[in-house]
Amino acid sequence: MKALLLKQYKELEVVDFPAPAVGPDDVLVRVKACGICGSDVHGFDGSSGRRIPPLVMGHEAAGVVAGAGANVKSLREGDRVTFDSTVSCGKCFYCGRGEINLCDNRQVLGVSCGDYRRHGAFAEYVSVPQNIVYRLPDSLPFEHAALIEAVSVAVHAVNITPVKLGDTALVVGTGMIGLLVLQAIRLAGCTRVIAVDLDDAKLEVARKFGADETLNPKTCDVPSRVAELTEGRGAAVAIECVGATDPIKAAIQSVRKGGTVTLVGNITPKIDLHLQSVVTRQIRLQGSCASSGEYPACIDLLATGAIRVDPIISAKAPLDEGPQWFDRLYDRNSRLMKVVLQP
Ligand SMILES: [Zn+2]
Ligand SMILES: [Zn+2]
Repeated sequence: MKALLLKQYKELEVVDFPAPAVGPDDVLVRVKACGICGSDVHGFDGSSGRRIPPLVMGHEAAGVVAGAGANVKSLREGDRVTFDSTVSCGKCFYCGRGEINLCDNRQVLGVSCGDYRRHGAFAEYVSVPQNIVYRLPDSLPFEHAALIEAVSVAVHAVNITPVKLGDTALVVGTGMIGLLVLQAIRLAGCTRVIAVDLDDAKLEVARKFGADETLNPKTCDVPSRVAELTEGRGAAVAIECVGATDPIKAAIQSVRKGGTVTLVGNITPKIDLHLQSVVTRQIRLQGSCASSGEYPACIDLLATGAIRVDPIISAKAPLDEGPQWFDRLYDRNSRLMKVVLQP
């Protein structure tokens, strides 16, 4: 089969690659669409240490069932499907609690990190265990389904954030995940959503996705503006989608006493935290990792149009163009959001 192989760091090539093995509990998927994730771009140059070559990356995919192992009863050849990016073991303490994102034996498709190497979906075929496969409605295009992982990150973050009907929410960072969080937190019942970003062009997009107010820290003091908008109290919750000192600080200072800041972004490994502003105001800092059982809900949210991803897809391209699109995404000045490859 054809596959986009990371031969060495920063060197991708479309090559002939052995088709994946299909175990008794596995489903062979003919990949129709696979999104390039930020983590693939960070892995591509070796900086994350999680894409050790040689590796076929890609974990945000959708396609058609092309074969299945003997124990697979509920899926048939030709079924349109997507699958979780995370392979959970189903046996550990956390899997038993349904917290599959915290699985002790968690593996991510298209990742090699020293402990394991699991080839992913930038290829004509990928083999995945049946317990992570979900059937798609006919109305949902493969290219949209390929964004379900990103949608699930946003939906999970909102699900673990204590939101009440009528709350005001702050969304810090309006890249792709921020735009999805914005839509999800509105659906969760927030009547006013304030978006924060350093880039006015991104804030413009955030308005199109339903942000009521947009604030740029370059031109205003975010916490005082949020206070003005909320009778001096601050927002009930903030979801932080950047992961650096300044935006996290702004999120903490912008929530009311007893509020929650959910941390999704993690682009810097360390931040400076002003402990007093968290402890004495009883702020809850809530980490959020990947997703945990939200895939079926996300399929519905996309299929019904409750969450829109079309404007987030910057380009759809054949697998052969993969190397060029990685180069473009690697360029820090790139304004691209999601690029979906179609093997
Ligand atoms: Zn991803
Ligand atoms: Zn487990």
